[in-house]
Amino acid sequence: MSELATVSVTALKGVGAALAEKLAKVGLENLQDVLFHLPLRYQDRTRITPIGALRPGQDAVVEGIVAGADVVMGRRRSLLVRLQDGSGTLSLRFFHFSQAQKDGLKRGTALRCYGEVRPGATGLEIYHPEYRAQNGDEPAPVEQSLTPIYPTTEGLTQQRLRQLSQQTLARLGPHSLPDWLPNEIARDYRLAPLDEAIRYLHRPPPDADVEELAEGRHWAQHRLAFEELLTHQLSLQRLREQVRRQQAPALPPAQKLPQLYLQNLGFAPTGAQQRVGAEIAYDLAQSEPMLRLVQGDVGAGKTVVAALAALQALEAGYQVALMAPTEILAEQHFLNFSKWLAPLGLDVAWLAGKLKGKARAAALEQIAGGCPMVVGTHALFQDEVKFQRLALVIIDEQHRFGVQQRLALRQKGIDGRLCPHQLIMTATPIPRTLAMSAYADLDTSILDELPPGRTPVNTLVIADSRRDEVVERVRNACQQGRQAYWVCTLIEESEELTCQAAETSFEELSAALGELRVGLIHGRMKAAEKAAVMDAFKQGHLQLLVATTVIEVGVDVPNASLMIIENPERLGLAQLHQLRGRVGRGSAASHCVLLYHAPLSQLGRERLAIMRETTDGFVIAEKDLELRGPGEMLGTRQTGLLQFKVADLMRDADLLPTVRDAAQALMEHWPQHVAPLLERWLRHGQQYGQV
Ligand code: ADP
Ligand code: MG
Repeated sequence: MSELATVSVTALKGVGAALAEKLAKVGLENLQDVLFHLPLRYQDRTRITPIGALRPGQDAVVEGIVAGADVVMGRRRSLLVRLQDGSGTLSLRFFHFSQAQKDGLKRGTALRCYGEVRPGATGLEIYHPEYRAQNGDEPAPVEQSLTPIYPTTEGLTQQRLRQLSQQTLARLGPHSLPDWLPNEIARDYRLAPLDEAIRYLHRPPPDADVEELAEGRHWAQHRLAFEELLTHQLSLQRLREQVRRQQAPALPPAQKLPQLYLQNLGFAPTGAQQRVGAEIAYDLAQSEPMLRLVQGDVGAGKTVVAALAALQALEAGYQVALMAPTEILAEQHFLNFSKWLAPLGLDVAWLAGKLKGKARAAALEQIAGGCPMVVGTHALFQDEVKFQRLALVIIDEQHRFGVQQRLALRQKGIDGRLCPHQLIMTATPIPRTLAMSAYADLDTSILDELPPGRTPVNTLVIADSRRDEVVERVRNACQQGRQAYWVCTLIEESEELTCQAAETSFEELSAALGELRVGLIHGRMKAAEKAAVMDAFKQGHLQLLVATTVIEVGVDVPNASLMIIENPERLGLAQLHQLRGRVGRGSAASHCVLLYHAPLSQLGRERLAIMRETTDGFVIAEKDLELRGPGEMLGTRQTGLLQFKVADLMRDADLLPTVRDAAQALMEHWPQHVAPLLERWLRHGQQYGQV
C-alpha cells in the first residue's frame, strides 16, 4: 500500500473536483491530511436509553412508538409528537415541519431518534431530533463506535466527512502511515503506535472514556500531542539555527544618544531596566542576529528598554522598526518616540493600515529614504515597505504575532544580505516550562521590577448582588477627579453578544451616573471611533470608560485608578492580570473590583482569591497552571499563546520537558525524520521552519 501522504483525496470514492476544492479549504489535500483532521467532539449513539432513564441535558438515542402527533399553538406553533417505550413518555417538538413529515409521524409508527433532552412544557422533550422510522421486524443496529463530529466548512456535511475518514481508515496500516517516532522514543515515553491512536480518535469504541476525550487527556490524544509538540520544538530549533548562521550588523555600544535621552526622560531607569538594557546592548554588538524576548509585567517599563535598544542602532546610523499589534498601541509608541527623539534630531515615521493614498505613499518614501525610526502596526510587514538600512526590529506584545510574521520582518534586512536584530517584548508572563517551548527560538530577559512610586492595586472580590454599591464607588472616585474602567467580559465566545452586553452596561451606567461623562469602546467599532474614544479618555474628557477586553493590552492612562471587571470568572487569570494592569499606573492608590456572578465553583473561588492575594504576573501564571482542573481547562486560547491542532501548551505543560529531550535525541540520532514530521504537521503553517 502506498503512503497516504502521497495519495490525493480524489482517490476516495465520491470525491470529484468540486468536493476536493471544499476539502482543500479545511486543509485536506491528501489522505494523511484526512487522518490528521481529528474530531472536535463525539456523540454517543452506541446504546438506546429507556425513556424512563433520560436526564435533562443528556444527548441520547431513544426508541419508541408514536402515541400521538398534534399541532399545538403555544408562544410558537409547533408539532408535538408523543413517544412511548413502556418506561415512560417523551415529547418530540418540531417548530418547522412539513405536512409530509407530519403524516410520517402517525400514531403507531416505531421511531428511533437522537437529540438533546431538555425539560419542557410537557415534561422531557427533544427539539428537532434526528429520527428514522423503524420498518420491519429487524431493528436497525446501533452505532458500533462513538460518532465523531469533525471541524468543517460550509457545504461539507458530517456525514460526508465520516464517509471519507471511514474509507481512509480502511487503508490505514503501519506502512501506509509511517511512524516517525523511533521505537526507542515511543518506549521511553510510553507512547502508543501512531496508527492505533489515529484509528481510536476517529472511531472510539463504545466504552471509551468520553470525559478524558473531551478534556484532551486520553492516551490517543497524548500520542498525537506529543508528536505535534515535538514537531513544533524541532521547527523552532531549526529556525534558530538558520537565523544564527546569518550575519547581522554589529552595532557598537552607544554613548551620546542614550545619555541625552536619559537626561530628558525625567526619571532614572530601574535596576531591572539597566540589567536587561545591558543584555540587549551586548547582543546588538555581535554580528550574529539577536533573537531576544523581554518578558516584563504590565507597567514594568518595557518601552524605555526598547528605546535604549533603538538608540544603539540609531547612533550607528541604522534604521529601527517598532511594531505593535493594534493601532492604539502603535500610536502611543509613535507619540512617545516622537517626543523622545525630536530633541536628538531624529525623525520618526508612521505607518498603519488606515494610512491611505498620498499620506501612505509619503510614508513609504520616507521609510525607503532611510528615516531612522519607523513605528506602526502589522502594515510594516507588507512587501511594498522597503527599508534602507534596517538593523533592529522591535515587536511589542509578541503573542499576537505569529512566527510567520516574525520571519517576514527578518527578511527586510539590508540588501537581503544582513539580517536585522530582533527584540520581542511581551507582557504575558508565562511559566518557565511553557516559555522554553513557546519561544524555543529566542533568548529571554526578564524585567522583574516595577518602577518606584507605584502602589500595588488593591483587588476586591464582590458578588454582583452588590452592584449598586460598586456603582457608588465609581461615582465617588470620578467625583474626586479620578477615572475608571468598567470592563464587560466575553460571553459565550461571541463577540457580538459581548458588544451588546457592553452597550447595555453603558446605557445603565450612563443613566445611573447622569452627572459623569461616560464613554464606550468595543471591538465592533471602527478603528477611528475607538481611537477617538481612547483619546478622549486619555485627555480626561471621559471619566468612566465602559469597555470590552479590547483595552487589554498596553493602554496607558495613569489617572485611571479604579477598574470594575464584570464576570471575571469567565476569564483566565493571565487575562485578568493583563486587564488589571491598566490601573495602578499613577501615584494614587488603585482598586480593582472583581464583580462575580454567584455561585462560584470551588475552583472559581480559588482563582479569584489568587487575584486578590498577588499582583505578581509570574506567580499568577504558575498558579493558573497549577489550578487547571478538569472541566475548567484553561486553554491556550485564553493566554493568547500558540495554537495547535491537538496539543495545548497549558494543558500539556507536563509533556514539555520530555518533548524537549525527545527533540534533542531525534535531531542527533534520527535527523532524517525531522523533515517528514515538519511536512506532516506544519505544511499549512507556510514558512514555519524555513527562513
Ligand atoms: P510596559 O512595560 O507595560 O510597556 P511602559 O513602558 O508603558 O510599561 O511604562 C509604564 C509607565 O511607567 C510609563 O508611564 C513610563 O513612563 C513609566 N516608567 C517606565 N520606567 C520608569 C522608571 N524607571 N521610573 C519611573 N517611571 C517609569
Ligand atoms: Mg507596553
